Amino acid sequence: SSFSNYKLSSELLKAISMLGFKKPTRVQEEVIPVLLENKDIIVKSQTGSGKTASFAIPICELLDWDENKPQALVIVPTRELAVQVKEDVFNIGRFKRVKVPAIYGKSPFHLQQKELKQKSHVVVGTPGRIIDHIERKTFDTSKIKYLVIDEADEMLNMGFIEDLETIISNIPRDRVTMLLSATMPKDIEDLCKKYIKNPIHVEI
Ligand code: AMP
Repeated sequence: SSFSNYKLSSELLKAISMLGFKKPTRVQEEVIPVLLENKDIIVKSQTGSGKTASFAIPICELLDWDENKPQALVIVPTRELAVQVKEDVFNIGRFKRVKVPAIYGKSPFHLQQKELKQKSHVVVGTPGRIIDHIERKTFDTSKIKYLVIDEADEMLNMGFIEDLETIISNIPRDRVTMLLSATMPKDIEDLCKKYIKNPIHVEI
């Protein structure tokens, strides 16, 4: 299959081609059509499968550039991953001029606050700092339509499960949710049951 099979805008196809992606990976073949139809999905997959682009492509395609408030939130376990995912989303959304602030700990709060005050489309962040911004009202979640929970099992291992619940309860219910995890421990399955309705399940 080919990326041109999906109904993607020329801005997206150009970015994908510039990244050197010739054809979708298996996880992308499974995920992209589902998210383009605004359906929830749970993906059991390892890193290195192309999972970041699997959500970055449909989210960048579907988001409304004119909306100033964030429309997508990607929750990741670590700063390093936040920086990586931000870069990946930026590269995919480059010709659509998608704004991708990253919010994570041990980095000045006020700079993130300033970035969140400007036009922001996709916010990428780690749990603790996301909660700080929500509590201090520097992150407006009212327009979030896409929620991605990446490396969910890692977040469980790091003790972030309650933080995840706190964040999810601050996101509008009318949304598309995607959860990615390399393993599916019971606590993650419970989280899925509680917060993700009628998801498609994919295992790569
Ligand atoms: P990820 O699993 O998201 O960490 O991606 C692993 C690597 O695969 C990254 O370096 C991506 O840039 C690359 N990648 C993602 N999708 C594709 C694709 N369709 N073709 C070639 N490389 C890709």
